[in-house]
Amino acid sequence: MELIFELSKSGRRGFIPPRADVKNYELDLKYVRKTPLNLPEVTEGDVVRHYTNLSRLNYAVDIGFYPLGSCTMKYNPKLNERVASLPGFTDIHPYQDLSTIQGALELMFNLGESLKKISGMDAITLQPAAGAHGEYTGIAIIRQYHRDRKDFERDEIIIPDSAHGTNPASSAMNGFKVVEIKSDDRGMVNVDELKKAVSSHTAGMMLTNPNTLGIFEENVLEISKIVHDAGGLMYYDGANLNAIMGQIRPGDLGFDIVHFNLHKTFSTPHGMGGPGSGPIAVKDYLADFLPIPTISKKGEEYTFDFSHKKSIGRVRSFYGNFSVVVKAYAYILIMGEEGIKKASEMAVLNANYLRAKISKILKVPYNNTCMHEFVATTLPLEEKGIKALDFVKRMLDYGIHPPTVYFPMIVHEDIMVEPTETESKDTLDHFVDIVEKIVKEAEENPEILKDAPHKTPIRRLDDTRAARNPVLRWKGN
Ligand SMILES: *Cc1c(COP(=O)(O)O)cnc(C)c1O
Repeated sequence: MELIFELSKSGRRGFIPPRADVKNYELDLKYVRKTPLNLPEVTEGDVVRHYTNLSRLNYAVDIGFYPLGSCTMKYNPKLNERVASLPGFTDIHPYQDLSTIQGALELMFNLGESLKKISGMDAITLQPAAGAHGEYTGIAIIRQYHRDRKDFERDEIIIPDSAHGTNPASSAMNGFKVVEIKSDDRGMVNVDELKKAVSSHTAGMMLTNPNTLGIFEENVLEISKIVHDAGGLMYYDGANLNAIMGQIRPGDLGFDIVHFNLHKTFSTPHGMGGPGSGPIAVKDYLADFLPIPTISKKGEEYTFDFSHKKSIGRVRSFYGNFSVVVKAYAYILIMGEEGIKKASEMAVLNANYLRAKISKILKVPYNNTCMHEFVATTLPLEEKGIKALDFVKRMLDYGIHPPTVYFPMIVHEDIMVEPTETESKDTLDHFVDIVEKIVKEAEENPEILKDAPHKTPIRRLDDTRAARNPVLRWKGN
């Protein structure tokens, strides 16, 4: 496809601004451009076709099934977008007088209360802009907590080998050493290894539950106790909250800090770089460390609260990604307690339905009842020269977005499938049919997988070159 700059023809216009009704202002010559600005000259029709065609090159959850494990690519109701774009929300400014934005503050306050209730925590900040940013904030709080107690020896965070890459990154960015714990043969944290790993150096542990294999950590209470007894804190990576919301609460499982990915669990589209939102909630003994300001209610009035004496400071300008917060609140109100509970039930049911069917076609290494996602492997197809990457690229030819591959790293040639609660049995059955078809192709005609995808606008990319030598900017003719 041509770029909009390449479509440009001198003299074409899409928009003519109204004649100015204010006096011309003469700019000081030193501020005046020497060369004209290089803008594309195109008609309104050119622009509409260009961007419509561009959008048709994309795959999206609004086009088809998107079972990207660990990402919760559920359908996000359009009503919530509509609510977030109401002028009362979009036309306000963070520096407005508090008396004029009481509604916005009330909304943020109420969302905080709902998330506290869902997670079983006591205090919250909506500032972090993503899950990884929430992790960074939470680990900074762990660091501050130990410093405040004059416990300067604690320089290690314990992380299971199934963890998301952001966990070690957030710990390292806060100056901690990462201690990795191996999973046991059921895909859970090896408790004996954990016992050996804790010491007076343990600052805390990061855990997602269910973990990235889609397995609930059955020993979570014991794990929390081991870490707490050693003087550490428990951090809950909430990316997988969709599996347990309304059923159990991280706060009751011994976690001290929780992050939420509003863009995964609570109805904000994601996958093209944001905006996201990663609030974190903490137990009361950590509330004073939260970033300032938080939002509080005094009588009938909502205000920004700067009173935290031990705050780690701000982690983002203003108060977080407000439009995402609005969507999350709208979603929670519409779903209600019953709806939220039902959503996690359906997410788990859908995943187990798929796991049971797929395990007859592909190898599923931890093939017990799973939570919201499961991991399969294409390893047995290796003798045909087929990698997991080839397998999932072929799915694109059948109109399905590839699942996550090569994560978690403890299963080789793995594909990680998360169907979410918003998919129907028809869609799941269709997915099973396609997987079956591709396995057959792998056996009979493996070459067709190795060259896949065949039907997409762009074929297989050279990932290494894209990472090492990215061309991100059009430099003009
Ligand atoms: C997505 C995810 C994260 C990071 O969240 P972002 O919002 O993408 O920064 C962390 N942990 C797990 C398990 C995840 O799936």
